[in-house]
Amino acid sequence: MRSSTARELVALDRAHVWHPYGPMPGRTGPLVVESASGVRLRLAEPAHGQSELVDGMSSWWSAVHGYNHPVLNEAARGQLDRMSHVMFGGLTHEPAVRLATRLVEITPEPLQHVFLCDSGSVSVEVAVKMCLQYWRSVGRPAKQRLLTWRGGYHGDTWQPMSVCDPEGGMHELWSGVLPRQIFADAPPAAYEERYADHLRALVERHADELAAVIVEPVVQGAGGMRFHSPAYLRVLREACDAHGVLLVLDEIATGFGRTGTLFAAEHADVSPDVLCLGKALTGGYLTMAATLCTGRVADGISKGEVPVLAHGPTFMGNPLAAAVACASIDLLLGQDWAQEVKRLETGLRDGLAEAASLPGVRDVRVLGGIGVVQLDHAVDMAAATEAAVREGVWLRPFRDLVYTMPPYVTGDDDLARITRAVCAAAASG
Ligand code: PMP
Repeated sequence: MRSSTARELVALDRAHVWHPYGPMPGRTGPLVVESASGVRLRLAEPAHGQSELVDGMSSWWSAVHGYNHPVLNEAARGQLDRMSHVMFGGLTHEPAVRLATRLVEITPEPLQHVFLCDSGSVSVEVAVKMCLQYWRSVGRPAKQRLLTWRGGYHGDTWQPMSVCDPEGGMHELWSGVLPRQIFADAPPAAYEERYADHLRALVERHADELAAVIVEPVVQGAGGMRFHSPAYLRVLREACDAHGVLLVLDEIATGFGRTGTLFAAEHADVSPDVLCLGKALTGGYLTMAATLCTGRVADGISKGEVPVLAHGPTFMGNPLAAAVACASIDLLLGQDWAQEVKRLETGLRDGLAEAASLPGVRDVRVLGGIGVVQLDHAVDMAAATEAAVREGVWLRPFRDLVYTMPPYVTGDDDLARITRAVCAAAASG
């Protein structure tokens, strides 16, 4: 692309296009990506001397196989020649059926039914709707509230926003308007019996009004990139069972291997009543998410006074996305993905170790394919982004966090480049 065209695009972008969590126009001009291949984003116009950037973000944690992958491209092309979309009401098709069946196969046994959604946030909306409707159907309509722990993030639509961290998070603005949910303290990194008792007490105290507990297992992502002991998931599972509350696990960020197990709840051997998946589901190619539930939840809804789950988006079960999702899951499970994630973990640990001694760094933590440097101050976004770009790497720091979640296909040299960039961004002021 000519650089004048790239500049024109940026000007039009700034005149007309909203970007995530931005004002209009955005504070800084975005970089124009012309194409992407493997782990590299190719820029339309060089930035700080770089025409290609190694992607340290996997496009918000979704592009686990990298870009322009021949197998995923082929799946998309093949499906495009058959049909890119058809409505899902009264009709079905092979990609959606294969995907749902595959998801049931690879998730814990009690999860048997799959609702295919458009995005992660919508999958959380559907999960909440399932839980509230389940209790209404079985004659407990007062069970309408949700319990979660502080520091979480579940998406940008209404119900998900109500269970995001209510303070300092992205949805503080709406705290007076959103449904009022019940919040436990943020989970400590290590297991503490005192905190487990706190969770048990809250579930017990609110059982009559609680439809479900909803949490991100093991890793809280956009709420602060914090890790916690998997043992808390067992505590929640037991408390939910003891007091008649459903357990929803949001594995939109952690699913498909990111934490070292296929699903993060496997670290605790816990199975939820409802499970949300998204992001890496399609290898980052297309927007699609899934809400899975047990036979008990589905039966409860389907035998209730209103015996249908009243949700059905226009692009539900989109064949193109479903075909790519099937190919992405096959690609992942057809290789030693656990070994690849382990390799990333080792590389991230080695490469980020030096960040611990940088001034202004509060904590360095790594789990699976997630590497986090937490500062003791708010990150200077512009300076940190520029420092990473100078190293030839794309990062998107936020709050006090500089972090990376690289594609699983990132080679050792590129991984070292990413960790150098994280350190440079963390040191940038
Ligand atoms: N839940 C979690 C745990 C997430 O990390 C995200 C996205 N960052 C969402 C839900 C929302 O997904 P989406 O952006 O696809 O709506």
